[in-house]
Amino acid sequence: MMTAKRKIVFCDFDGTITVNDNIVAIIKHFKPEGWEELVQKTISTEISIKEGVGSLFRLLPTSMKKEVVEFGISNAQIRDGFAEFVAFCKEQQIEFYVTSGGIDFFVYPILARYDIPEDHIYCNKSDFTKERIEILWPYPCDEHCDNDCGMCKPTVMRQFDPEQYERIIIGDSVTDFEGAKLADQVFSRSHLTEKCRELGIAHTEFSTFYDIIDAMKKKG
Ligand SMILES: [Mg+2]
Ligand SMILES: [Zn+2]
Repeated sequence: MMTAKRKIVFCDFDGTITVNDNIVAIIKHFKPEGWEELVQKTISTEISIKEGVGSLFRLLPTSMKKEVVEFGISNAQIRDGFAEFVAFCKEQQIEFYVTSGGIDFFVYPILARYDIPEDHIYCNKSDFTKERIEILWPYPCDEHCDNDCGMCKPTVMRQFDPEQYERIIIGDSVTDFEGAKLADQVFSRSHLTEKCRELGIAHTEFSTFYDIIDAMKKKG
């Protein structure tokens, strides 16, 4: 007997749930000496995301914890329709996971007002106990991924058997691309759309979460 696959959503955070990238916003706001070179090297993939993000936060002293955390939380703007999309998933019994390359000190507080269990939120962690901010990486790449992602989206997705789950990814950037290759359905914006086009991966463009709700309702 065929049983229908269970839908599961893996949703990016920065630039997807939020309108802008929060890591870039924090670094640009505090402008620690040497940030521009590190951002450039990360974008050009001369260094990995993990190395880039780790090095960028290491430029900030932990004495600035309060300002950094407050800015990280207050600066973020949520994309339209997100609360409705979380409710839609719950109503349709679609499992909802956040797969974020962001950092705990802004990801959890920003998502606190939505009904998302904490163990459904994957992100990087931070340590403010030393002189400089240290990023911790609890969800590293498995043996199938050598991108040094930091928080490895394909690794998280592989924990959900494609025989049992219809895997849906929502994202905006190249860091979502490896996940998009594994997914049954891709909702994309910005750089992820360009990358999917370039490499012929089926995708549905969105600009708000209402677009995603509509598309999922139509598809059934
Ligand atoms: Mg993103
Ligand atoms: Zn990886």
